[in-house]
Amino acid sequence: MVNWRWLLRMSNRSLLAFIFFFSMSTTCLYFIYVAPGIDYPDGSNSSEFLVQPTTYLPENFTYAQNLPCPERLPSMKGLMEVNMTEIPVEEIELKFSKLFGIEFGGHWKPKDCRVRWKVAILIPFRNRHEHLPILFQHLIPMLQKQRLQFAFYVIEQSGSQPFNRAMLFNVGFLEAMKDLDWDCLIFHDVDHIPENDRNYYGCGQMPRHFAAKLDKYMYILPYSEFFGGVSGLTVEQFRKINGFPNAFWGWGGEDDDLWNRVHYAGLNVTRPEGEIGKYKSIPHHHKGEVQFLGRYKLLRYSKERQHLDGLNNLLYSPHISLSSLYKNITVDLYPELAPIMDY
Ligand code: UDP
Ligand code: MN
Repeated sequence: MVNWRWLLRMSNRSLLAFIFFFSMSTTCLYFIYVAPGIDYPDGSNSSEFLVQPTTYLPENFTYAQNLPCPERLPSMKGLMEVNMTEIPVEEIELKFSKLFGIEFGGHWKPKDCRVRWKVAILIPFRNRHEHLPILFQHLIPMLQKQRLQFAFYVIEQSGSQPFNRAMLFNVGFLEAMKDLDWDCLIFHDVDHIPENDRNYYGCGQMPRHFAAKLDKYMYILPYSEFFGGVSGLTVEQFRKINGFPNAFWGWGGEDDDLWNRVHYAGLNVTRPEGEIGKYKSIPHHHKGEVQFLGRYKLLRYSKERQHLDGLNNLLYSPHISLSSLYKNITVDLYPELAPIMDY
């Protein structure tokens, strides 16, 4: 005779198992294909324990044209207001060129002290027009308070290939160096808004990861090798590591490869302490963008590829135009522009 109670119990179990495995696999698929950029923190947040007392110069500090601009200025007050409201680009162009003295093309330098760092801000870009004015609105006053010499380069990808953030940075670097003898490079996502004006955008002895605490990651470093969002290297450091890899097409992995390059070159990464490295990210979707699933394989060969793929194998033909607040460098990118030998 059929033992119905046993059968019912079994089918309940297999139903539960089916539901469990189904939900697991759909969750995995969701994270692989649909939700790039969502990482969960692993709880390692060692910088929290390294917060050291910092001293900033007093309000009555007097600058001298022949002395280097200090790094801890009285104008740097700490946490800033962040306003994500969309603004028409014309409005901020007018505001910053008329009232903030930004020269056509996005250049500015302080007049009352000798600049410590000449900083090129490189912004990889495609179809995020509403983000740019929000970024400028926050970044320009902050950089002026920090008395850095700076200019903005928006490197825009045309064509139909997947987005290649890293290759755009390489193009931006080579083009920016034609303008001026920059000594510090900031690689800046368009949707990352700094929350603290003490996050000094100069460079240092070691490459720096500025965007240590993101609101979208609950202000916790997602993993200790995370190097995404906003990072900075001196020109010398960037040349030493042969720039970014060119082979990462689509979302993900290029920042991890940069981390590997930095470490294989015997360098380290520093981060701002405590609340200084806080950023808000402008919410956006990933419609029409693809994940780069080949990234895991490439990352296994970071070391071998470092000297074969980067600044030294890159070809491109840019279209350049100037606007009030930045230089636009538009490039069509495709894999043949970065030929690589077997390794
Ligand atoms: N980006 C862009 N258009 C795109 C994809 C990326 O302008 O279609 C630029 C932009 O500067 C952005 C950065 O590349 O901030 C990183 O990409 P994304 O914001 O998609 O990465 P996530 O925030 O998901 O890590
Ligand atoms: Mn983003």
